[in-house]
Amino acid sequence: MVDSTRWALIGATTIAREWMINAIRETGGEIVSVMSSDAARGKAFADEFGIPRSTTDLDEALRDIDAVYISTTNERHFAECMAAARARKHVLCEKPLATSYEDAAAMVSACRDAGVVMATNHHLRNAATHRAMQEAVAQGRIGTPLAARVVHAGTLPIQMLGWRLHTKGAGAGALLDLLVHDTDLLRFILGQEPLKVVTVAQNGGLAIEGIEDAAMSLIQFSGNIIAQVHDSFTTRAQRTSCEVHGTTGSLVAINNMAQGPAGTVTLRDAEGERELPLVQEDYYVRGCRAFHAAIRGEGRPAVTGEDGLKSLATALAARKAAQTGQFEPVRQSSEG
Ligand code: NDP
Repeated sequence: MVDSTRWALIGATTIAREWMINAIRETGGEIVSVMSSDAARGKAFADEFGIPRSTTDLDEALRDIDAVYISTTNERHFAECMAAARARKHVLCEKPLATSYEDAAAMVSACRDAGVVMATNHHLRNAATHRAMQEAVAQGRIGTPLAARVVHAGTLPIQMLGWRLHTKGAGAGALLDLLVHDTDLLRFILGQEPLKVVTVAQNGGLAIEGIEDAAMSLIQFSGNIIAQVHDSFTTRAQRTSCEVHGTTGSLVAINNMAQGPAGTVTLRDAEGERELPLVQEDYYVRGCRAFHAAIRGEGRPAVTGEDGLKSLATALAARKAAQTGQFEPVRQSSEG
């Protein structure tokens, strides 16, 4: 019998509260400590969720545990991940992995050198909708994929109307927050790599001046596939969607980009139109199950550190493209 994985939560956060505490526990993990920069908030968080230890000290949080879940604001991920790798703890890190490519690449290398599992918490690969789309594409059910379109646009709930809209140094803006998810999703469904991107960013008055609260991007993928992506915090009544169009058919997912299990996928081809059968499951539970298995040496995480580096590289290229007005190349991992 394998002992359960002992976890530290690095960050007393909304995502931990709403999804990850349950996901870690549901898949056999034991949460033994939480780190917050505010002692009182950390203690209240620990008490609320029955976590034995709370601390403001990272080294103390890392003591006597096996794995960390890092969900602080994005500029803090680098130092926290590097400390965890030095202490040889497995790392499940929130997206974007960091606010610079160099930091994220160093995080991936440090975990690899330490021999620990590293995963990025892109949840959308775990959705029944997207797994069905990935399978249909791989089975050739739409022929050769030519184009994709993602709408990841909606509004932010009140608890998210903070640093995302006003703290540049924390990686605010729709591109680092949402385009990283879309890129990872398209890489997963298409099995292709983003090569270059051009972006038009918008400030619709929700974020402070100088930060985009919406953007549209065109991404050229390998395999001669073109993709169009709409990311937004500002559209109240829009439905999310993901479409992939191939030479013989199309896949259309609707209401599929949320955090909770939802959405449908329709396959259209010469035989007509039908919904693909789906067995829905909590995306974060599924991700944590794969992470725990990877720690036991069974398979790999749903989304690795390298995957998180690629999604970040695309969002950073998009942010640059929004300034230059030109296509920008997506940095490839082999470029160092
Ligand atoms: P929060 O805004 O809830 O927390 C971010 C930081 O703000 C925390 O680390 C915390 O500091 C501080 N903080 C939290 N609550 C308060 C408060 N009441 N007063 C003052 N400071 C506070 O972040 P999110 O949960 O929205 O996002 C955290 C990370 O998770 C980000 O990297 C984000 O991109 C990612 N994320 C991922 C999602 C996914 O589906 N994969 C979905 C949502 C977010 P301290 O920890 O020091 O107490």
